[in-house]
Amino acid sequence: MEHINEVFAAQRKRSIQQRLSSAAERKGKLEKLKRIIQTNEELIFKALAEDLRKPVFEAALTEVYFVYGEIDFAIKNLSSWMKPKRVSPTLASALTRNRIYYEPKGVSLIISPWNYPFQLLISPLVSAIAAGNCAVLKPSELSPATSKVLSRLINENFDPAEIICLEGDVTISQALLKLPFDHIFYTGSTQVGKIVMEAAAKHLASVTLELGGKSPALITESANLERTAEKIVWGKFLNAGQTCIAPDYVLLPEHQVNQFVDLLQHYTQKLYQQGGKLNKSVYGKIINERHFNRLKNLTENAVAQGAKIGFGGDFESSDLTISPTVLTNVSLESGLMQEEIFGPILPVISYTNLEDAIALINERDKPLALYIFGNENIAEEIISRTSAGGTAVNEVLMHISNPNLPFGGIGPSGTGSCHGFYGFKAFSHERSVLFQSKIDMSSLVYPPFKTGLLKWLKKLF
Ligand code: NAD
Repeated sequence: MEHINEVFAAQRKRSIQQRLSSAAERKGKLEKLKRIIQTNEELIFKALAEDLRKPVFEAALTEVYFVYGEIDFAIKNLSSWMKPKRVSPTLASALTRNRIYYEPKGVSLIISPWNYPFQLLISPLVSAIAAGNCAVLKPSELSPATSKVLSRLINENFDPAEIICLEGDVTISQALLKLPFDHIFYTGSTQVGKIVMEAAAKHLASVTLELGGKSPALITESANLERTAEKIVWGKFLNAGQTCIAPDYVLLPEHQVNQFVDLLQHYTQKLYQQGGKLNKSVYGKIINERHFNRLKNLTENAVAQGAKIGFGGDFESSDLTISPTVLTNVSLESGLMQEEIFGPILPVISYTNLEDAIALINERDKPLALYIFGNENIAEEIISRTSAGGTAVNEVLMHISNPNLPFGGIGPSGTGSCHGFYGFKAFSHERSVLFQSKIDMSSLVYPPFKTGLLKWLKKLF
C-alpha cells in the first residue's frame, strides 16, 4: 500500500505538468510505445500462447496489430482531437467566443481482464497517453504470462511517475480503488463493474466500464444461412468463445434449426478441424480450471434440463480444451441462458415469430452486442426496437475494428466508450470556455432591473 500511495502521489504531481504536454510530445510517447511493442512482439506472442494458446496469427490480428492500429490512428488525428472545438454562441451569449477544450483528466487507473490481456490493457493506455494522462495499469492475474511481459516492458521503459504497471491479484485492485483517481477505466465482468463503480463513487471519479453480458445473434427468415453460419462459427469459437462480443446464443426461426445446426457443423469442421480432429494449432484453450469446470457444469446442467448436443461437447481437462459445441432445445431457465457463457458453447434457441425473439431480447439486460442477420429493412426495424452497446448487421465482431465507431456497452454491459476519438474523450474533460467580447452587453441584465426589461426579455425568448 505504501508503494501504491507513493506512486499515486508522484503521478498526481506529474499530472499537473502533463496538462501542458503538446501533441508532439504525446505522439512521441505513442511512437515509443509502438517501438517497444514491435521490438518485443515475439515475447508477447509467446506469452499469449502460454496463457490462452492463442495462435500467432490470431494474437496479431486481435491483440498486437489491433493496438498498432489504435496507436497509428491516434498519432494521425491527435492534433485535431486536441484543438479546442468552436461552438456558436446563442442569443444569451451573443458576440462571445465559445470553445470546448479537451483537458487531461489527470491520473487514471486502467484495470483489465484476461481474455485479450494485451489489447485490453494497452489500447486504453493509448487513449490515456493521447489525452495527456498519467496512468496506473493493473493487468489480470489470470493471464500471468502476458501480465508479466507487459509489466516488465512498461516499467523498464516509462517513468513510474507517468505510467506504471502493477501486477497482482484482486487485493491490488482493491487497494488501488481506494485512491482518488481522476478516471477509472475498467474492463471485465458486470459483477466487478459494480464494485468498481461503487469505489469510484466514493471519490466521484468518472468511470468507463467495458463490461460483458449475453450478446444475441438474431437470425431472421431473410438471412443467408450459409454465410451466417460461417460468421457465427468464426465469431463464437475465436479465442475459444472467450470474447466479450462473441455471439452468446443464436435466435433462429424454428423450421431452420436443423439445417442451421448442420451448417454450423460444416463450417466448424472447415475452420477448426484437420483430419477429422480438432486442430488445436488454430484453436484456443480455456483460461483456467475454474472456468473449464464452470463451462462443463453449465453444459451438463443444460443437458439435464433437456438440451440436446447438436455436435461437440468434448471436455479435455488435461489441456483445458472444450471442442466447439452447439446445443439445441436449451431451456431459457438454464444457467446457460441466464449467465454470460464466455466459452465455446452455443445454444441455438428457436422462435416461431420475430416478435417473440425481439421480446426475449428486450426482457433481458441490454447486451454489449446484438447481431442481426437478414435484409437491411428488417435490420433497421430490429435496431429501432431494441437497445445494445453496438450492432453488426450480417456480420459479427467487426464493429470493434473501426476506431471511428465508439465501442462500449449500455447499462449492465457498460458505461462510456473507447477507441479512437471516443477513447481520447474518455480520458479528457470537455471544458467549456467562453471569451467575452469587447462589446459586452451583459450588464443590461444586472440589477436594479430597468422598467420594461422583462417585456423585452419575453419578446426575445
Ligand atoms: P478478471 O477476473 O481478470 O477481472 C478483471 C480485472 O478485475 C482483473 O484485473 C482483476 O484483478 C480485477 N478484479 C477482479 N475482482 C475484483 C474485485 N472484487 N475488486 C476489484 N477488482 C477486481 O476478468 P473477468 O472479469 O473474468 O473478465 C471477463 C469479463 O469481462 C466478461 O464478462 C467479459 O464479457 C468482460 N469483457 C468485456 C470487454 C469489453 O470490452 N466490454 C472486454 C473483455 C472482457
